[in-house]
Amino acid sequence: MGQRGTPGLHADSGLLVCFDGFAARHCPEMTEKGQFRAIKGTRDILPADSALWNWFEQTARDVFETYGFRDIRLPVFEETVLFARSIGEETDVVAKEMYTFEDRGNVHVGYPQTVEEIVRSNEAVQAAWQAGRIPRTFDNELRVGLIQNACDRVSEEGAPALLRFIAELHALDLGDSITLRPEATAGSVRAYIEHGMHTQPGNVKLYYIGPMFRRERPQKGRYRQFYQVGAEVLGPSDAPAIDAEMLEMLLVFFDRVGLTKTTLYINSIGCHECRPKYVERLREELRKVKEQLGADSQRRIETNTLRVLDSKLPHEQAIIEKLPRISEHLCDACREHFAKLKEELKLRNIAYQENWRLVRGLDYYTRTTFEVTAAGLGSQNAVCGGGRYDGLVELLGGPAGIKGIGFAIGTDRAILSLQESGKLPALRGFEVFIAWMGAKAYPVAVAIARKLRARGFSVELPPEEMKFKKSLGLANKLGARYALIIGEDEAASGTYTLKRLVDAQQRKFSEGELLEHLASERGQGR
Ligand code: ATP
Ligand code: MG
Repeated sequence: MGQRGTPGLHADSGLLVCFDGFAARHCPEMTEKGQFRAIKGTRDILPADSALWNWFEQTARDVFETYGFRDIRLPVFEETVLFARSIGEETDVVAKEMYTFEDRGNVHVGYPQTVEEIVRSNEAVQAAWQAGRIPRTFDNELRVGLIQNACDRVSEEGAPALLRFIAELHALDLGDSITLRPEATAGSVRAYIEHGMHTQPGNVKLYYIGPMFRRERPQKGRYRQFYQVGAEVLGPSDAPAIDAEMLEMLLVFFDRVGLTKTTLYINSIGCHECRPKYVERLREELRKVKEQLGADSQRRIETNTLRVLDSKLPHEQAIIEKLPRISEHLCDACREHFAKLKEELKLRNIAYQENWRLVRGLDYYTRTTFEVTAAGLGSQNAVCGGGRYDGLVELLGGPAGIKGIGFAIGTDRAILSLQESGKLPALRGFEVFIAWMGAKAYPVAVAIARKLRARGFSVELPPEEMKFKKSLGLANKLGARYALIIGEDEAASGTYTLKRLVDAQQRKFSEGELLEHLASERGQGR
């Protein structure tokens, strides 16, 4: 990737004009009235839903921490090459779905106009290229040559060469290539290596929560900014008990949030020893039936063979069912690992289905792969995917012999499935609305609001005086559980009138009694 501070083409060379200003662009998301809208494939999670999201994510934290996992907060963007190398150049994610941009930093190229300016500009480019200050990509190499060529011809050709020069100068890729993370395993492994976490005793267990970005066709359960809750175990051991415990944790979590109509599918896709041989066998068989396959599968035979097994095209199903299966081609070590995993799952009473066609989309997986599907989601029904990636740490430049396994839950889909099932938890809403009236009541209202909030109650204190009728109406509309009535009488006598809004039951309390009463009512539900 490019280096910081590239290259010597700056405004201070006296040649160049810098455009730092804001350029108005065509904005497809703007409505006719000129209002902005969220970009296609992104959405706002509004307060009406965010309580459910927070509870879901908090439950994940609670469950994962009981299994010894710790939170890792990763950057939302990383160097493009990190994803390309780990996920794989030929995967859909890297080939089509990544949000990649050039981070130009402080580098500006301008618009040389005279022959003299072009010559000086060209010298700066050539020197920067020689010094390695322009990222050494194939495209850049070509352009540096074309820039030289245009410079050589500018005295003879004039304007056409000048225009070519400027066009190539501006097409140079001068910055770091950066990508919004499409998933977080690559970042987790990068962080593991960068911080030398392999020196920690035992296996390192991490979890993360946050947004991911993929340029996919938006539809129900498929967004361009979506959210994942994921976990990774990295370390020297690849014992099948690690895989099984991770699946146990996942299913305990789904159970805890009430996502019960789920199915766990498992498979083993072999290791670097046995998989290439199997893939070769598969490719041979696929070539024989190539003409009967759709265009995507035909292409994948050569580029990403295993992915053909993932095809959903109805007419390909019968053909795929007759293909050689990986389970018959696993090496002894992989076969044993898979058998042990299944024993471990039985030991933990975890129901699963084997699915030999579960290959997963990303290149780094080895051995165990798994997926969980949930009800109510139509064709986007996978709520979690994961698997082992034993070679990834080494592939990304880390120490040899470190194994890894992880999963990622799609929060958007898990929440959709929960909403479809109608089994939503009763989340704590807004509890006490303080209906105050009169100048003497106000300081009492401010003081009691603070005391109630300090005890963890959610309190609404109207900022302006309202008639009791109006404030009780508002308390009802806001869905408060209680109205705490403080008028001049209450203020004078040091008492509070508490009205339970669901049945209009009303009682007078002293401050001490009030706090005690509310605390005892809490947790009993509405
Ligand atoms: P799919 O086959 O549905 O495209 P995937 O194999 O691309 O999923 P993974 O990379 O394994 O997905 O990500 C794990 C989980 O993240 C998925 O099971 C899904 O729940 C969720 N997920 C993936 N892509 C999206 C998306 N674009 N929008 C919403 N959720 C997504
Ligand atoms: Mg996908």
